[in-house]
This record gives sequence, C-alpha cells and structure tokens, in this order.
Amino acid sequence: MQNNTAEKLDVNRYLLDGLNPEQREAVITLDKALLVLSGAGTGKTKVLTTKIAYIIENGYAFPSQILAVTFSNRAAREMKERIFNMTPGADAVWLGTFHSICAKILRNNADLIGLSNNFTIIDTDDQLKLIKQILKELNVDKKVANHVANAISRWKDKCIRPNDPRVDATSIEGKIYAIYQERIFSYDSVDFGDLLMYVVRIFKENAHILQKYREKFRYILVDEYQDTNMSQYMWLRMLSPIGAGLCCVGDDDQAIYSWRGAEVGNILRFEKDFMNTKIVRLERNYRSVGHILGAAASLIAKNATRLGKTIWTDGDSGEKVIIQRAYNGFDEAKIVAEKIEKLRKDSVAFGQMAVLVRAGFQTREFEERLIAYGIPYKVVGGLKFYDRQEIKDLIAYMRLIYQTNDSLAFERIVNIPKRGIGASAFSKLHTRAIERNISLFQASKEILGENSLRPLVTESLTTFIKFIESMRGQKDLPPAQIAKIILDETGYMNVLTNEKTLESQTRIENLKELLIALEDFEDLPTFIEHVSLVTDSKRNSTDDVVSLMTLHSAKGLEFEAVFLAGWEEGVFPHSMSLQEGNLEEERRLAYVGITRAKKYAFITYAMNRKVYNQWQSDLPSRFLAELSTEHVVHSKGKTGR
Ligand code: ATP
Ligand code: MG
Repeated sequence: MQNNTAEKLDVNRYLLDGLNPEQREAVITLDKALLVLSGAGTGKTKVLTTKIAYIIENGYAFPSQILAVTFSNRAAREMKERIFNMTPGADAVWLGTFHSICAKILRNNADLIGLSNNFTIIDTDDQLKLIKQILKELNVDKKVANHVANAISRWKDKCIRPNDPRVDATSIEGKIYAIYQERIFSYDSVDFGDLLMYVVRIFKENAHILQKYREKFRYILVDEYQDTNMSQYMWLRMLSPIGAGLCCVGDDDQAIYSWRGAEVGNILRFEKDFMNTKIVRLERNYRSVGHILGAAASLIAKNATRLGKTIWTDGDSGEKVIIQRAYNGFDEAKIVAEKIEKLRKDSVAFGQMAVLVRAGFQTREFEERLIAYGIPYKVVGGLKFYDRQEIKDLIAYMRLIYQTNDSLAFERIVNIPKRGIGASAFSKLHTRAIERNISLFQASKEILGENSLRPLVTESLTTFIKFIESMRGQKDLPPAQIAKIILDETGYMNVLTNEKTLESQTRIENLKELLIALEDFEDLPTFIEHVSLVTDSKRNSTDDVVSLMTLHSAKGLEFEAVFLAGWEEGVFPHSMSLQEGNLEEERRLAYVGITRAKKYAFITYAMNRKVYNQWQSDLPSRFLAELSTEHVVHSKGKTGR
C-alpha cells in the first residue's frame, strides 16, 4: 500500500513537476467542467496530453473510458505519441477527430439509421460528382455544384435534415439536398457531415445508446474548442450534459474555421452551458521568442471582437520578424528556398521549417523552387497522394469489393481499364438503378438476367461482375494481396506497362507505393476507413523535410522557422474574405501563422503576380503595417531586379 502511494507520488511528480501552477491546476482538476482559455503556445495541448496520462497513471479511469478529440488526423497522431511517452497504456484511449470517432460510433450502431455496418464514407470529390450527376438529371447547370455542396455541408454542420423547415424545399439547394441524401443513403454511403449528423440523431432517438456512451466516457477532452461547429457542439453536449469530467481547451484568437461552420460562440458560452465550471487561463508562452510573440500580439490587438488576454515569455527576445519584398512569385520562392538553405547550414533541420500559404494553389511555385534546390519537402494537409487517378481507381475496386452497393466506386471503374462498357450501356444501368432505387451493381445483375445488352457488353459486364464477386469471396486476404490481384487480373497493370510513357511510369510507381502503404493494414475495412479519413499524406522516406501547407492546416503545430508567403492585399487578406467583410478572421489566421514560429519568422510579399496568365501588381498586405515596428525588420535583400 505504502509502496503504491510512493509510486503514485513519483508518477505525479514526473508528470506535473515541469508544469507551471496554472497548468498543473488544469491537469489535476477532474470534477469540474474545465475550460482552458489562453493564447498560442501557452501549453493547452500539453495540458490535455498530460491530463490523459495523469488520469490513466492514477487509475481514475481506464484508457477506454477517455475520449479525446482533436481537429486533424495529424494532430491526433502527434498527441498519441506525446501521451505514449508518458504512459504506455494509452492505446485504448478513444483519440481522434470528431469524424473518426463518430465513424466508429456509427459503425457500431448503423442499423439504427438503416445503414449496414460496413457503409462507405465518401470524400468531397465523390460528393461533388454525385451532386453534378443529380444536377444533370434535373437539367441544371453543373456550375452551381460547388455552391450546392457547400450549402449541404453547412446544413449538416447544424444537423439540419432535408425535411427541416429551415431548408427551403423549393430552392435548388433544398431540392438537390433531398435527392442527394436519398441517393447516398441508397448507396449505403455517408459523407463527412453525415457522420456527426447521424450519430447525433442516434443519440436523440435512442436514450439507452446515449446513456451507454455517457457512462463509458468518464473523461472527455477537446482540443481547439474554438473551432467546433454546431453539430460537434450538440454531440458533445449530449455526451456530457452537465460537463462533469469535461475539459475543453482553446483560444478565441485562433478561431479560423467560421467559413466551414465553426462557431466561436461555443467557447464563449462555456460557463453558461455547463454546471460547476472552472476557467483556467495560461499566460506564459513557451514556444516563441519575444519578438515573434510581440509581433503576433500587436497584430491580433487590432481585432475589435476578442476577449483579450495577457501573454508573456521570459525567454530570449530573439530575432525580429523579417519582412522581405520580392519582385514576383518566382523571386519570392527563390528567396525562401535560399533562406531555407542558409538556415539548414546554421543547423536548423528541414523538419523544423515550414512554408505557410493562404491558399493551396500557392504551393506550386515553392514546390518547383524546392525541387530545383534539392530541398526535400512535403505538402501537408491535402489528399495529394490519394487524389491521384490510379490510386483512386485501385481504391474504388477495393471499395466495391468491400461493399458492392457502393455505386460511386462502381461507376468509376466499371470501364477502367476499358472493357467496352460505354456511355449508352452505363446509362441503361444507371436508369435502372434510379427507377428501382437499387445500386448499380444490383442493376447490372438484373439487366444481365434479361439479356438485353449487346453480346460484347454482356460478356464484359458479366466478367466484371464475376470478378468482383469472386474477390468478395477473398476479401479477408491481406489488402496488399487483394490489390495485387486486382492490378493483375483486370489488366490494369498491363495497360500501364504497355503504354511506356513517362506518365504511365509515374502511375506504376504510385501504385507500387500504394502496395507498400497497404502492407500496414491487416484488413480491407481498416484500410478503406483509413483512406476515407486521412487528410494528409504522411509517407516520406524521412521526416526531415520542409513542410508546405496552408495556414489553416498549420493550426496547433510549431516549427523553429516559419516562412509566411504572399502577404499581399487580395492574397492575404484573401479577396473573398474582404468582400465578405471577414477581415478579423484573416487577422486571426495571420496570428496563427506567426505564432507557429519558435525562433525565426520570415514574411514575404511580391510586387507582381501572374493571375490567369496576366501580370498584376499587388499592394503589400495591410497586416504588415499592423505589426509593431519594434518587433520587425525590413530586409534589404535583393529583390530580383
Ligand atoms: P496552440 O494555441 O498553438 O495550439 P498550445 O497552447 O496548445 O498552442 P502547446 O503546443 O501545448 O501550446 O505548447 C507550446 C510549446 O510549449 C510546446 O513545445 C510545449 O512542449 C511547450 N511547453 C508547454 N508548457 C511547458 C512547460 N510548462 N515547460 C516547458 N515547455 C512547455
Ligand atoms: Mg495546441
């Protein structure tokens, strides 16, 4: 007994000793609804991870009774690593994004919604395709597809179903939403928004299920709480109605996802929402040197709508934020690449450097320069690898094998590689599927039974269906093996090999890379789930590479050196946000960007940009003038001319 106590003391000393008093208080407060509200780099995420270890090590709950929510898969991975370093027993913690956790809950209760438990999760690409298909059926211009997709997502963010009075059923968005929802449901599929919406519905309609999860999750921890949307909020409130054992951390100054339905009001309302609440404020920043912190603080102070908070560091004031003008985009990328090389010589690791841009398209110029300079890099935050055509094809085969009713997968590959099932044959299948409200796979079997297709089409469609069915019989094989059989037996690999072009060569390499990736998965469902949820490609021969990403996906991360590129009016702040009057969110984004840097922050802007093949000259971003002059220095470096 005494030993036990001594051990506990040791463990707690190990976990808590390095924390400041406020952090410590946040970690050991377990009986209240706790909100840690504080600025960037003050250790909010550190409090969360330490708290999980603290709960486990002291036996306050089993790992499986802890639910921890992060905002990206990457953040989940990092958090898991950090916790493992403190407590090895953390494997069973339910740790992931809202989406991945809801996917898990939905799989266990899919029958309550009328889905099978191996439903498919479709990505935004498939979503858009489906919407375009519906628009075509209704004879509406495909141009509005993106707009409609957005409207549907925003409704789902609020758990608003198509028949809800808030949806105008006569509007084009409302009409499409109703059809879309019926259609994906009949495909036994869900989109990202559905994951939350369905789970909230299950909780609402099945008190005993909700009760089960309430009892299960003794402790619930949420990172980046300022960026939760309405459905996530509803979900949390159902699981933790009074907030006992709840711990949310966040920073209103870092709310950057309102355009995706996030509501900063959720964090501001915390005290009203829960009983017995406690708010802890952390003020000491451990991440950035004084000048970087000062520059960031001076910028965010320009926002009118914020709680306002003190933040200080007793570390070095370090280097000032360097601002450098470039002649054009090419020049800017060159300047950044050269700085990266220089820092590397000064022994900053590539993995400790990041180039942050406002919009995805901006990475191209940097990618080209980095390649030219032989600097290893990765693009973080996109579905890059999994977006490639051949990868999507192979995955569509796997999805169809796993779930034959997955009609989007069916449509993608029924004629890939080409097997003579052209548009007219496909449209027959499609019409039948719609008429009878069945999947394309089922429609094919019906039509084949009637012998109404041309003999060649009949033959190849039969072969295709038979192949899928025979693979279904082998669906328990390791995924890598399944993939290999698909590539060989469909002739997919053969077609590429015979093509002998640079492009086909690249595709073959990509497919080979996928086969390597597949080795990490034990079974088909796990892999398919992974593909649906992973939003950033992590595969790299080494981790020591420069990260290229958007400001949005840099949230929560930190680097020794950060390059903030394209600080020009219209680029950043983004012209769209200016039109929408959302300047403050842009400023928060700038604040997030600067505060990612520990030691070095470089801001660049170009005087000229090529837009749609036309040169235009740009004004420097207004944010540059808002940075307090005592913390910045304008570099006199060459500007390319
Ligand atoms: P953000 O708002 O950007 O998400 P955060 O508040 O979550 O920031 P963390 O990422 O948890 O901050 O911490 C920032 C850095 O400070 C990390 O490197 C972390 O390890 C370090 N840190 C936090 N608390 C302490 C401490 N008490 N002693 C030493 N280092 C600390
Ligand atoms: Mg954090």
